[in-house]
Amino acid sequence: MKLSELSLSALHELYDTLSHKYEQFRAQMLNLDLTRGKPASEQLDLSNELDGILGGFYLLQDGTDVRNYGGIPGIPEARALGGVFLGLPANEVMVGGNSSLTWMYQYIEFMLRQSWQQQAGTSKVKFLCPVPGYDRHFTICEHFGIEMINVDTSEQGPDMGQVESLLESDPMIKGIWCVPKYSNPTGVTYSDEVVRRMATLANKAGPDFKIMWDNAYAVHHINDEHDTLANLMDIARENSTQDSIVMLASTSKVTFAGAGISFIGMAQNNLASFEAFLSVSQIGPDKVNQLRHVRFLVDSEGVRKQMEKHKAIIRPKFQLTEQILSQHLGDKDIATWTRPNGGYFVSLDTQPGIAGKVVEMAAAVGVKLTPAGATFPYGNDPADRNIRIAPTYPPVSQLRQALEVFVVCLQLTTLHKIIGNLEDTETKP
Ligand code: PMP
Repeated sequence: MKLSELSLSALHELYDTLSHKYEQFRAQMLNLDLTRGKPASEQLDLSNELDGILGGFYLLQDGTDVRNYGGIPGIPEARALGGVFLGLPANEVMVGGNSSLTWMYQYIEFMLRQSWQQQAGTSKVKFLCPVPGYDRHFTICEHFGIEMINVDTSEQGPDMGQVESLLESDPMIKGIWCVPKYSNPTGVTYSDEVVRRMATLANKAGPDFKIMWDNAYAVHHINDEHDTLANLMDIARENSTQDSIVMLASTSKVTFAGAGISFIGMAQNNLASFEAFLSVSQIGPDKVNQLRHVRFLVDSEGVRKQMEKHKAIIRPKFQLTEQILSQHLGDKDIATWTRPNGGYFVSLDTQPGIAGKVVEMAAAVGVKLTPAGATFPYGNDPADRNIRIAPTYPPVSQLRQALEVFVVCLQLTTLHKIIGNLEDTETKP
């Protein structure tokens, strides 16, 4: 039954029952964590074969010894593997260390130095940020003093009308962050129409406008039904806007999150300028790990098989999350949440103004959630309603316990608000 249909005394009764439950949780001295989208140890175990896979053979077909210095773009075999993730030919892909986030940081620094800062002069470089989004993208912007502008997101992706009119009105907007498939945190995959309009944005923005296409969840399905994403670069090429595209991905949630390889892709001329920038700070990447990954994953079929194994581990956790949320919140009309086909998160919206309080209440009884607001630039969710749930890391038993605490905290906070509103109205003359 909807909470809004309950009488004041029924609401008080429910509040008392849930408060009692909450106090029981407190007595259990829990220490549970639903904060970050990390793979569970069981998932990491799927890639233990990486150790020793080279069996003492370090030479590439062209005679390169991967143990030695050099080769900033990465080994050809790993560049081809990166192409599987990014949908690009190998010569448009560069392979790096374990974090695509490092690529993003370096690329933004590169663009600021080579172009954006000169154009901005004393004014600020700006970036569009579809919200809710990935907090670490926002941290990079904040670090470099790039002003962030929120853009609404629907089930199709970012609101392209908003994006286009903002770009037309402000030449200092130099980029947009996109997680186009199984987005963090909403699970949304951009529609063909959104991708098509993205591909032509550079015609509205200046020549150095960049679409940071962070395809972190390109192959990370949860359900048998897969989302599909149109190839942004192919459409950009048809429109001669390929210079605006920067594509990113990594094996962080495919092999070892802390010891994988990462990919950055763009048109060859842009890749060459970026390589020149990188050559000041490095002589070459860890090619041994690149070769290990090539031997282990091999090709798109190898990646597909590996991701099926991940799916078998994480799907029950997403199913459990859906089950607990719908069982406790389903008929009450107090929250909405996503049911993604892939990715690492469930995004939940509370009633306005209470997400921070829910996270606080859960923390007070030992359940850590991603801080409310983290999914928005400057940590500021204007409606204070979005909470990101990351179900993959804890074992199922702990996930269940943490979610049971969460739904109690959410109901209590909502009830507090509803009861407060009702009592206010009743006491008003
Ligand atoms: N982009 C997105 C959208 C992510 O969710 C994450 C991980 N949470 C990353 C990038 C980080 O990727 P990497 O491990 O390759 O740095």
